[in-house]
Amino acid sequence: MFDKILVANRGEIALRVIRAAREMGIKSVAVHSTADADAMHVRMADESVCIGPPSGTESYLSIPAIIAACEVTGAQAIHPGYGFLSENAGFVQIVEDHGITFIGPRAEHIRVMGDKITAKDTMKKLGVPCVPGSDGGVPTLEAAQKLGAEMGYPVIIKATAGGGGRGMKVAQTVKDMENAFYSARSEAKAAFGNDEVYIEKYLTTPRHIEIQVFGDGKGKAVHLGERDCSLQRRHQKVFEEAPGPCITEEERARIGKICADAVAAINYAGAGTIEFLYEQGEFYFIEMNTRLQVEHPVTEAIFGVDLVREQIRVAEGLPLSFEQEDLQINGHAIEVRINAETVPGFAPRPGKITAFHAPGGLGVRMDSALYDGYSIPPYYDSLIGKLIVHGRDRREALARLDRALGELIVDGVENTTPLFEMLLGEEDIITGNYNIHWLEHWLEETFPKA
Ligand code: ADP
Repeated sequence: MFDKILVANRGEIALRVIRAAREMGIKSVAVHSTADADAMHVRMADESVCIGPPSGTESYLSIPAIIAACEVTGAQAIHPGYGFLSENAGFVQIVEDHGITFIGPRAEHIRVMGDKITAKDTMKKLGVPCVPGSDGGVPTLEAAQKLGAEMGYPVIIKATAGGGGRGMKVAQTVKDMENAFYSARSEAKAAFGNDEVYIEKYLTTPRHIEIQVFGDGKGKAVHLGERDCSLQRRHQKVFEEAPGPCITEEERARIGKICADAVAAINYAGAGTIEFLYEQGEFYFIEMNTRLQVEHPVTEAIFGVDLVREQIRVAEGLPLSFEQEDLQINGHAIEVRINAETVPGFAPRPGKITAFHAPGGLGVRMDSALYDGYSIPPYYDSLIGKLIVHGRDRREALARLDRALGELIVDGVENTTPLFEMLLGEEDIITGNYNIHWLEHWLEETFPKA
């Protein structure tokens, strides 16, 4: 059992982990940059260590500084949260080499899933349905054009090292191919230092459906249904819900079992998310995230489980605390991401919070590291809060979201709250009739000049 864990992250996700640790009787250590000395995660943890200057590369991404903080405080394990070092296999190796436990999957699984070509190949062999496309990397424009002709347009060119929507270009017709191929490659090179790309059939109106899985690292795994994260802007999720409005019980059981069996077969440990595009009743694997997701609370709400507690337990070598049959869906949950950004421009707006009031009441959860007088530093992600609502059904969850957004006060910085107030007035949102392009089309129509 751990007595003390270090949280290698900041913001709301650091609080999320500190809270789970406290409930388990485990002490927590916060790490922070000089820009975050007054941050909530520093205040809430039992101990804190300053690990560097504001820049993420010199603080939250500094492996030597984080290992040193563990050694100084005697923390036995590290929870990485999401982002930063959470999917860095090299980091996991170094952590383990220092006799510290990484709260997450083994380095080999992070490595396999971090390379999208290898991930797709692995999943295919494990029986997971994938988007039709190239077998592995596509080295030349000629090869890309040949594939395009064989598969039929549109196609999407994607970076094998990709993430955050970068290094991805669509070729609608053969005419776009040259441009799309070279620009995907150069974007990939610039962002990831690896210009290898592969090609997939471009699905025109899919939904983004992802399956939450959990493995014990010893060949046993369960799934916790799906989340629909189709409302995206530039491939970034802004609104997520569970269960998916268009997924039937049979579909959930079928794809859930395929995913749980796949991760069980590789002895996967801890939380993972298998992402799919879903079109006309078919699931197509796109990638696996080997960490806790931003949107995990919607799954926690409908299943009544604490996924961070479970991650810590699995890292301690304990068995899963639930069987597949124990995992029954109760109601409906929605999360909206409150970002310190303008609407509709989505330009970051760091600055001082002059007033903050979190909504409350039945079925409302606000995960945020804000407080009155807090200054949002300009160096990091613009996510400043997640509002999660849970109702007996989707209608009740929507009504609750509307009510909670009305109670939320975030004064001093522009943020994305008004976007959700507007979306709740849209028929397609009320009925759940949207796909991955819906939000961008709506933004274009609603703010024509922006
Ligand atoms: P990243 O890791 O950069 O986020 P993903 O592979 O997860 O990349 O894809 C992100 C998003 O890009 C998907 O949610 C979807 O909106 C779009 N996308 C990816 N692959 C395809 C495809 N084959 N057809 C249509 N859209 C796609």
